[in-house]
Amino acid sequence: MDEYGVVEGELLESLRHVREKEAPFNRVFSSMCTRPHPLAVRVHQKFIETNMGDNRLFPGTKDLEDRVIAMLASLLGTQNAFGYITTGGTESNIQALRVARDLSSKKNPNVIVPASAHFSFEKAARILGLEIKKASLDKCYRVDITSVENLIDENTIALVGIAGTTEYGQIDPIEQLSEIALSEDLFLHVDAAFGGLVIPFLERDYKFDFTLDGVSSITVDPHKMGASTIPSGGLLFRCREHMDQLMISAYQEEKQHSLTGTRSGASVAATYAVFKHLGRRGYKRIVDRCMKLTNITEKRALSLDINPVIKPVINIIALQIQNLDEVLSKLEKRNWYVSKTIKPKALRLIMMPHITEGILGEFLDDLEEVIGYVR
Ligand code: PLP
Repeated sequence: MDEYGVVEGELLESLRHVREKEAPFNRVFSSMCTRPHPLAVRVHQKFIETNMGDNRLFPGTKDLEDRVIAMLASLLGTQNAFGYITTGGTESNIQALRVARDLSSKKNPNVIVPASAHFSFEKAARILGLEIKKASLDKCYRVDITSVENLIDENTIALVGIAGTTEYGQIDPIEQLSEIALSEDLFLHVDAAFGGLVIPFLERDYKFDFTLDGVSSITVDPHKMGASTIPSGGLLFRCREHMDQLMISAYQEEKQHSLTGTRSGASVAATYAVFKHLGRRGYKRIVDRCMKLTNITEKRALSLDINPVIKPVINIIALQIQNLDEVLSKLEKRNWYVSKTIKPKALRLIMMPHITEGILGEFLDDLEEVIGYVR
């Protein structure tokens, strides 16, 4: 740290330059986050000093958190769920598996996750001392139920299903996982970090939430398709006793369930505001738009003889393109931010709310041109 402070104007100017070097969201197809809703930003600022780690000082913000959890619960098929606003999908997945571990008395516990699971489960496994067993996928990149059944042994404590996989946006057969969880008496965690605020608004009805009796907990992130500010993750449990496995007594008779101590109340209030402001209708409009962009992309790709890895289920499309690395680097030179999937290799495009039809058209024209050069 310097001895003397820098004047505000100079500092802000230098920070403006820092931001200028960063990606403008309207060129970004690689992120599962988006520009937060303007109201979320305003409310975030108003609640900037609130700390959910100290409910005695901020009882109002704590009340907003309870209301956000109630809104998420009702969206996910129950009037009664227990949870809190986490820092994101990673914390939620770690905490869910922590509960599963602590509920069991197994000495060498293992958890069965789909091969498509997000890497946060690897982090969870290392932190919690769990073995992760990866179930294979079917030809549509959903978890293969026979593979899950074959992996279950006397040390299995939990199953994980994904509702909106990170790479292809696929939804696992959660209904079948739920039946297995019930018959084998296993904890079932559903990672709907991305899909949880998309799937309820799709035309097609997918069963993935607490309406299935075997689902014990769900991850759902408002800082992804919820258009709230970072850090806004969500973790919900069906049973209070499960949530209470996380409970620690803090000072002054306070109790904490969260992994972090001091945590942002600003993003909690922002999430509350954007949920109340948009309502189900507002989110449906957003999801409809993102799905329309996904369909436009699929049609254009097919017209160029490019197939998606799977027919898009949510607003993620992965295109099987020859000479992918060359195409990616040419797109990057044109300042597009895109990403690739690994198995199979494909160009992954996430149609977030910040993408417009105009931007998409520009991108698809560039993609067509670049593919033409590379062929
Ligand atoms: N789960 C899924 C399915 C995800 O796609 C992601 C992130 O992309 C996560 C969990 C982790 O979320 P976060 O980055 O908010 O910790």
